[in-house]
Amino acid sequence: MAAVGVNTQLNPLENAGLQFEEAATRLGLDPGVKEMLKRPRRATIQNLPVVMDDGTIRMFTGYRVQHSIARGPAKGGIRFHQDVTLDEVAALASWMTWKCAVADIPFGGGKGGIVVDPRALSLGELERLTRRYAADLSDIFGPDSDVPAPDVNTGEREMAWFVDTYSMHSRRTEYAVVTGKPLEVGGSAGRREATGRGVMICIEQMCRHLGMPLKGARVAVQGFGNVGGVAADLLARECGAKIVAASDVSGSIHNPDGLDVTALLAHVAARKGVAGFAGGQPLTTSILEYDCDILVPAALENQITGENAGRIKAKIIGEGANGPTTPDADKVLDARGVWVIPDILCNSGGVTVSYFEWVQNRMGFYWMEDEVNGRLREKMEHAFSDVLATAVREKVSLRIAGYMVAIRRVLRVHELRGMYA
Ligand code: NAD
Repeated sequence: MAAVGVNTQLNPLENAGLQFEEAATRLGLDPGVKEMLKRPRRATIQNLPVVMDDGTIRMFTGYRVQHSIARGPAKGGIRFHQDVTLDEVAALASWMTWKCAVADIPFGGGKGGIVVDPRALSLGELERLTRRYAADLSDIFGPDSDVPAPDVNTGEREMAWFVDTYSMHSRRTEYAVVTGKPLEVGGSAGRREATGRGVMICIEQMCRHLGMPLKGARVAVQGFGNVGGVAADLLARECGAKIVAASDVSGSIHNPDGLDVTALLAHVAARKGVAGFAGGQPLTTSILEYDCDILVPAALENQITGENAGRIKAKIIGEGANGPTTPDADKVLDARGVWVIPDILCNSGGVTVSYFEWVQNRMGFYWMEDEVNGRLREKMEHAFSDVLATAVREKVSLRIAGYMVAIRRVLRVHELRGMYA
């Protein structure tokens, strides 16, 4: 991942707080209301014992934060990563509240995580850890209260274990308790591609607004997993964009004439990373600073900082990841006229199709992929135009505009429901 400078803002919770504060101040919120909207509703910490393959017991730490349930059940993924902290999970939970409000879907915000490098566990150990976490929190999770989904290093497999564990405890099969499930286990057509598809739609809309052709535009993608890999594939196949650089934990590669994304995805599936791809050359400098028109950070937080923002060449940044840009970087990019499509808008396609999955589970009736993609496009285009219109009207960045749209929507629900206290 890109080197980061020393004088940068790297606590995601502080960064989320700064972004919220700026928008809340512009909206002229009362200090008490501001505090109510900012603080998470509930945070839990679990100590999770797991019997390892060698018979020893190892303790893991897990978290679940519900930031808001005002607009509906808490919604948000579960991350397995060695660097997970409670602050990070709390920041991600608050971003989910704002994201669900921008996307205008009836969910609040939540997030979960376990401090673990899943690559260091066997499949059995990983399954036991996932099940222990799901069981331990089964009183918090539920289709009407808190609905997890995949995040970094979790996917359909973990969600299927989750459904099974929760269902065993509730003595009935309950698919609507998590989203991002395999198709055969109550998943939705189009969910796997949804976040990347949403990123593509936002970039398309941004290019349209700027009068910039997307066909032939040069795109660099940091993080080639569920979000980055799919976004690259769709941008190339459906929009004719040229993917010129890609990176992941294994390394970075580039090809100024364009990478063959289909071949690269096959290479990543077989070799667990982009490194060694024959259709490109290794890239030794930061992918974030690569000469391109569009940059898609789709890995982790705090990649674009005050230290490197001045060297970014892209005109558009489509945030596939959550929190990839720090507030000090935002200022630099804003001053340089770079258009940053904020995470709470740009990657909201995932949670939007998660909402569709939850609806389908509850109806017991499943939609065709075209219907899912059509409804996703409709939602994303609405969200994009609401945020863009606010940015133009209020003369603020798309990020602050996104927060303003979201805060207004959450606040409105609080006003209508009244304060029970
Ligand atoms: P993933 O685990 O499928 O992929 C993550 C990718 O980032 C991998 O290619 C990994 O190698 C790469 N990566 C990790 N560390 C890196 C490093 N140091 N340098 C370069 N690359 C690195 O995860 P994902 O689901 O694609 O999530 C990526 C981001 O998108 C996260 O911020 C996540 O919160 C966000 N997001 C995901 C979804 C979703 O539906 N999966 C939805 C919204 C937002």
